[in-house]
Amino acid sequence: MPFAHTLLTWYDDHKRSLPWRGEKDPYKIWISEIILQQTRVQQGWDYYLRFIAAFPDVQTLAAAEEERVLRLWQGLGYYTRARNLHAAAQQIVDKHHGLFPDSYEEIRALKGVGDYTAAAIASIAFGLPHPAVDGNVLRVSARIFGIADDISSPATRTAITQRCTQLLDSRRPGEFNQAMMELGAIVCLPQKPKCDECPFRRECHAATHGLTDILPVKIRRTAKRERFFHFSIHIYNNSMILEKRTGRDIWRNLYQFPLQETAADTTLPGLRCIAQLREVLTHQVIHARFYIVEETRKPTLSGHQLLVPQKKIGDFPMPKVMVEFLQQQQLISQNPND
Ligand code: SF4
Repeated sequence: MPFAHTLLTWYDDHKRSLPWRGEKDPYKIWISEIILQQTRVQQGWDYYLRFIAAFPDVQTLAAAEEERVLRLWQGLGYYTRARNLHAAAQQIVDKHHGLFPDSYEEIRALKGVGDYTAAAIASIAFGLPHPAVDGNVLRVSARIFGIADDISSPATRTAITQRCTQLLDSRRPGEFNQAMMELGAIVCLPQKPKCDECPFRRECHAATHGLTDILPVKIRRTAKRERFFHFSIHIYNNSMILEKRTGRDIWRNLYQFPLQETAADTTLPGLRCIAQLREVLTHQVIHARFYIVEETRKPTLSGHQLLVPQKKIGDFPMPKVMVEFLQQQQLISQNPND
């Protein structure tokens, strides 16, 4: 049986019901795809519904204040995704008269949209025959076809993309792409794939040669940069100092407690450290320590600082590690958008 037929027959019977499943509006597909990058489906689900409720179309998103967009994104991390969504919505309004572009090349030219996302939108919304190759598709393909090259190399990705282009069902390209990803997400798991439940168990190279622990091959290259952040919580009269991050570093335009960074892992002398947390970003690992500073006099604020009443703290968009800390201390709700 042809590959696409086997895959789509399995998909029709086994796909999960998800809020964006069956969606044809390219705007909503785009939002769901960006949210799901680096986010688990379960976590992304609520964010997607809230985001679509707040910004139901590209015009509303383009016209929104950046701070509101970041606030709705709070807790998902990787804020560049939210900033790019906002900028791309403005691009669509300015360059495409508010109509979502309907060619692969124009979608790919939107800010924050890479090969994978452009192919996902083009195929699902517009039925264009572009394979969407994400981590799931790389893993499934490496196992089924016995590809032993490093899947993190661009050359392997290109080879797998070409192979998927040949296999793609041109009548149902969007569903073909979703089916490949779904197979990776619920059957061909990174550890302990459920080969007994897989429609390809008889022809899969990895399954038939006992190589599911070996394939795919993924070589890690660069170590992440370790950074040591010390946040001081200045408390005065039930208010706390927040400062806005500016400049070209991570977390631009988000709010945090006043920060000191050290080159090595250490504790600030003379201050009481009440919590330690870690946030892993794409290229960095942030080790955060939080210290209490009880102010007896009204503190003097510098440039980007504000004295914020404790009950208003949750109104500001903040890095994930700050949100986690505030939730742990029960200073804000567990639900980031309450
Ligand atoms: S048979 Fe096993 S290893 Fe092969 S694609 Fe299916 S789940 Fe993955």
